[in-house]
Amino acid sequence: MEKERSKSQAILQCKCPRCRKGDIFEKAAFSINFAKTYRNCSVCNLKYERTMGFWWSAMYMSYAFTVAHLITVMVAINILTQERPALWVFFTAILGTFMFLVPVYFRYARTLVLYLLGGVKYSSNPEVWEEEGE
Ligand SMILES: [Zn+2]
Repeated sequence: MEKERSKSQAILQCKCPRCRKGDIFEKAAFSINFAKTYRNCSVCNLKYERTMGFWWSAMYMSYAFTVAHLITVMVAINILTQERPALWVFFTAILGTFMFLVPVYFRYARTLVLYLLGGVKYSSNPEVWEEEGE
């Protein structure tokens, strides 16, 4: 039998908040279709888009990630360089690292919003899933 995941493990692995077994995303993070999200959990049938337009709220989370990324890279460049570098260094460093991390931010924004605002309680009991429905 599969070992139960903790909440933080389930978030890190982008698993369903109700059963912590089903995947939220169809493809791997670093694939072309990284954003493809399942409609329902393959294990407990939880509907991931909790209300119409639910994923819009993930944009705010994504925005917070972007701002944190920007500040982190700018501070890192300032610490790592002696003199103030040229503007293109900032742009290249920020864009280069950001483009690489877009799938990660996108997926964790959706996953965190689902966990924080989805109003879903964890249960390993299939009877509870049956009662709650989607
Ligand atoms: Zn599930």
